[in-house]
Amino acid sequence: MAIVLDGKKLSLESENDFSKRVEKIKAKNHSTPILATILVGSDPASATYVKMKGNACKRVGMDSLKIELDEATTTSELIKKIKELNANEDVHGILLQHPVPEHIDERSCFDAIDIKKDVDGVTSLGFGRMSMQERAYGSCTPYGIMRLLKEYKIPLEGKSAVVVGRSPILGKPMAMMLLNENATVTICHSRTKNLPEIISTADIVVGAVGIPKFIKSDWIKDNAVVVDAGYHPEKCGDIDLEGVISRSSAYTPVPGGVGPMTINTLIMQTLESCEAHLGLD
Ligand code: NAP
Repeated sequence: MAIVLDGKKLSLESENDFSKRVEKIKAKNHSTPILATILVGSDPASATYVKMKGNACKRVGMDSLKIELDEATTTSELIKKIKELNANEDVHGILLQHPVPEHIDERSCFDAIDIKKDVDGVTSLGFGRMSMQERAYGSCTPYGIMRLLKEYKIPLEGKSAVVVGRSPILGKPMAMMLLNENATVTICHSRTKNLPEIISTADIVVGAVGIPKFIKSDWIKDNAVVVDAGYHPEKCGDIDLEGVISRSSAYTPVPGGVGPMTINTLIMQTLESCEAHLGLD
């Protein structure tokens, strides 16, 4: 029987722990962890994600500071806002919702976030430090996946891992995190040749492509660990899961696998940032 890598369950269990830690901070330090969320423009999906993040803060007793900026906001205006939040002692974490409107230089804006408040793990400095196995907050989706793999004691050392996708927030940090756990990692992307053949060698497959059911079940070998980071309105991921679940050794369901771990990791890292700020870490 395949192990279900149940992100919903782990995120609910973790929230209990986070609530207790928040209570402690409130009682002892008379302080509340605060996540600042920045939404630029009016993309409905982004607005929903930001709302979900605010709700998750509420569930564990944390506060969120919602910043909503006009679609026409310039790069320098956004950086100015980020710098204000960097300087605001009450704010412990900053989330800039991705993607920002096209005219904005997203990378410069991400990199304007103070490393101490980069709880979404989006800065180049954070990526570099994480890659070098120095202390840094992890990019939330891949780090959420790593937490899930650890919870279910999935062996990584010496395993062949294939990550399909190389985005700065998902594929690339995922590959580095797996490498840091001594997996042998192959990163695939839109220019990769012989994708099915490469995937067929994988002990661990991570789908982070952004195309519904793009990775076919018959590309994946028996007993592989199947991690699907994708989520699409038709309630499926980037992997054609149906055909592979029964042959896999473990898999993330969609929904209820990777998705809940992303927000949970954001909340966890905001709490950690607050604890570090108060000298409680
Ligand atoms: P992205 O920025 O669009 O990146 C997609 C990656 O897939 C790129 O590296 C691209 O390659 C690669 N790709 C595209 N077509 C391909 C093909 N035909 N063959 C092989 N590789 C191909 O997407 P993302 O932000 O990383 O997100 C990936 C998925 O994860 C999406 O389904 C998204 O919804 C999901 N996601 C989920 C969460 C969550 O909380 N659960 C969070 C973030 C993202 P190139 O680099 O060559 O273009």
